[in-house]
Amino acid sequence: MKYSLGIDLGTTFSVVSIIDENGIPKVLNNAEGKTLTPSVIYFGDDEIIVGDGAKEMQAMGDNNIACFFKRNIGDENYVLQFGEKYYNAEDLSVIVLKKLKKDAEAFLKCEVSDAVITVPAYFNNLQRQSTINAGKRAGFNVLSILNEPTAAAIAYGMKDIKDKKNILVYDLGGGTFDVTLVRIEEEIIKVLSTDGDHELGGKDWDDRIAMYIGEKFFEKFGVNPMDDVEYYNDILVKCENAKKQLSQRESTDINVYYCDLKEKFTITRDMFVSLTGDLLQRTRSLSEDVIKSAGLFWEDIDGVLPVGGSTRMPMVLEFIREVSRKKPITGINVDEAVSIGAAIKASMENKNSNDKVMFTLGGYKKTEDVMSHSLGMVALDSQGKKYINSIIISKNKKIPCSERRPYQIRTGKNRNNVLEVYMLQGESEDISDCTVLGKYVFYDIDYVGRKPSVIDIEYAYNKNGVAKVSAVQRETGKKLPLKIEKIPENFKWDEELNEEEEIVHKNVVMAIDLSGSMRGTPLKEAIEASKTFID
Ligand code: AMP
Repeated sequence: MKYSLGIDLGTTFSVVSIIDENGIPKVLNNAEGKTLTPSVIYFGDDEIIVGDGAKEMQAMGDNNIACFFKRNIGDENYVLQFGEKYYNAEDLSVIVLKKLKKDAEAFLKCEVSDAVITVPAYFNNLQRQSTINAGKRAGFNVLSILNEPTAAAIAYGMKDIKDKKNILVYDLGGGTFDVTLVRIEEEIIKVLSTDGDHELGGKDWDDRIAMYIGEKFFEKFGVNPMDDVEYYNDILVKCENAKKQLSQRESTDINVYYCDLKEKFTITRDMFVSLTGDLLQRTRSLSEDVIKSAGLFWEDIDGVLPVGGSTRMPMVLEFIREVSRKKPITGINVDEAVSIGAAIKASMENKNSNDKVMFTLGGYKKTEDVMSHSLGMVALDSQGKKYINSIIISKNKKIPCSERRPYQIRTGKNRNNVLEVYMLQGESEDISDCTVLGKYVFYDIDYVGRKPSVIDIEYAYNKNGVAKVSAVQRETGKKLPLKIEKIPENFKWDEELNEEEEIVHKNVVMAIDLSGSMRGTPLKEAIEASKTFID
């Protein structure tokens, strides 16, 4: 049988599934006999180890480790050096994907190349494109890129659901948070709206314990072991373990050794909750935005589906119960749901091949997804005074989708007529709050005489949520060739318009972290310090 893989390429762990010959989803074991492969890489002198082995080296305090790099995929400025070589997050993802491919092939005893790879729903164009590239470079035929919460909903939705249901998929992983509102009907799974924060995840919970320990250690000994890279990783691993233990018991101990100093810290569940309460509140406001943008209220939500390893923390389930006033949905494996959903999608994508599509979990369902970023372009505001982000495809519109806009340009006889479009992703009018996808330059525009030529530009999101732009010259019907150029980072959008220096009024907001020991005098001192800082 020709298998297609469903790959959950996670920030902390990756998981691979297939639909087997009986139509049953199956999570594959890696070479270590486990279903979860840590997305951690160890760079030794003459070997590279991925997964559990790398995690062990990390726990032993080795620094030749790459982890959490998914947070930086698509970011050119993120480069790590190991030995003589430089790696960006895409290069590192290729290394993990190659291990997943090799292990899957060993497990299935055959070659596999077709795969659906999942990404957080709010991944932008660069992050999606980079994930596709990583898949290809690892030797996969990437059938599609699927949003993680949609994958989880597919896995859940394949259960025999008779009535229509609005399900909120609450996905708190190791480094990312995604929240997605899905409508599951008998024939179709529709994503209504989605949002997320790619800098919020289990790691932030670990960091809070580590910060607390660092501060307490400093209070007692006058040194903070977290400032020392040699000890930093080791303490973080201990904090993550302590966090996991707190999912089982009321309190746990962490022993910290630093040079010849040592201290035992007892962390209780209550302490842990008070150190991290604000993180949960961040997930609440994003959840409420998502419900609101679909025009619904908490009362309209039939259930909340927790996914991602961090939803194992009892405080998360308690929080879901409190805000939704319903018991969270249980019965799916939070670590495996995303890759199973991806495997189901992979089978659907391949349904025209010899592969048979048959699900014992329920009927075949179509899926409809949305994008969590608006697609826009740089345009002059209505007064012609400044450049703004003019939104062309609004977020939460069903994908694939496209919009066409006409532009007029004057053409010259003996010159290369070009049309430049700056593409943006983001919701704000302010360009500096958006991701600039690039300068799209259409060239070879024919001379059409003295009247302006009309160029129809089509902006589109494809099924992977990747932005595509194309243009046709109306008078000639010619599809215009395109080159995409990068925009320098320090590029100023207002330079040409602001001829005179003008005073720009800005608001300064000081945020004070109220966790841990920030009460009473320390809080007053912090407020005073921020006033002095502003002065
Ligand atoms: P994921 O990205 O979905 O694989 O989630 C990984 C995150 O889940 C990491 O931050 C883990 O520390 C966290 N995690 C896994 N198991 C537990 C547990 N039993 N209790 C709390 N957090 C957990």
